[in-house]
Amino acid sequence: MDRYAVVGNPIAHSKSPVIHGLFAEQTGQALTYDKMLVELTSFDEEVAGFFALGGKGLNVTVPFKEQAYRYADELSGRARAAGAVNTLIVQTEGTVWGDNTDGVGLVADLLAQGWALAGKRILILGAGGAVRGIVGPLLEQNPQSLVIANRTLEKAAAIAQAFPTGAIGVSAYTDLQGDFDLIINGTSASLGGELPPLPGGIANANSAAYDLMYGAEPTTFLHWAEEQGVGQRSDGLGMLVEQAAEAFFLWRGVRPETAPVIARLREMIAAA
Ligand code: NDP
Repeated sequence: MDRYAVVGNPIAHSKSPVIHGLFAEQTGQALTYDKMLVELTSFDEEVAGFFALGGKGLNVTVPFKEQAYRYADELSGRARAAGAVNTLIVQTEGTVWGDNTDGVGLVADLLAQGWALAGKRILILGAGGAVRGIVGPLLEQNPQSLVIANRTLEKAAAIAQAFPTGAIGVSAYTDLQGDFDLIINGTSASLGGELPPLPGGIANANSAAYDLMYGAEPTTFLHWAEEQGVGQRSDGLGMLVEQAAEAFFLWRGVRPETAPVIARLREMIAAA
């Protein structure tokens, strides 16, 4: 049976085996999908070993996405733009292709929720690995403007420079001005129950707020959005499932239905 896995450290929390298991069941694909805990210094050897034993593909999560980028023999355009890889695929000649499905996963989830992106003013909070992956696919949706705000301003500026045709604005949190149609929280601040120091007036009832993080309860950022009167609010569970669906499609050539898998996962998280 074809073998796949997700590699990370830590990895115990990963929902990827459940998601790909549900995809395989739904599409009738015969495959196995495991979790692979890899020591910080042995990514290359472990991944090479997995492929040497016939493994077909890997998902890559924190903290190995940049290492996977360097490991891949060939890269997709979106992986190159992101500087990070979350999906590895063995090609027929044995070489390894690296792709990044995080950004298309986010866009797919936003569009599935009926959130238009074309002509919109988008604000992204954070400038870490996940934000690097989402900027290109968001720009492809032709927003009116895209601003990246981050605690470390140089990191936001570096991402803006990597997309020279995108005319991306860069700002400190406290300098943000005007209101936005969509605010995406790509910081990991919600993990610690924190929020970047956002000024008032940047969101209103017509805005939408999306946190890449997800959980059983609304995140700190989504609570803030509710306080601002933001009408449409979502966490990142849909993105997680959509990026997995894109990886599944790359590996198997079959596109699974994501809505029932998102609903199933939502139930599992609530019951945990
Ligand atoms: P990184 O560690 O690469 O980046 C973290 C970012 O958060 C940086 O911009 C950092 O700012 C900022 N940050 C961290 N703590 C604070 C704080 N207290 N106040 C303000 N800013 C802060 O993480 P990732 O980019 O890999 O992940 C970001 C989030 O996205 C995580 O919550 C992760 O779980 C989520 N994610 C969700 C996915 C999904 O499928 N739903 C996929 C990938 C990620 P600075 O640069 O100044 O240090």
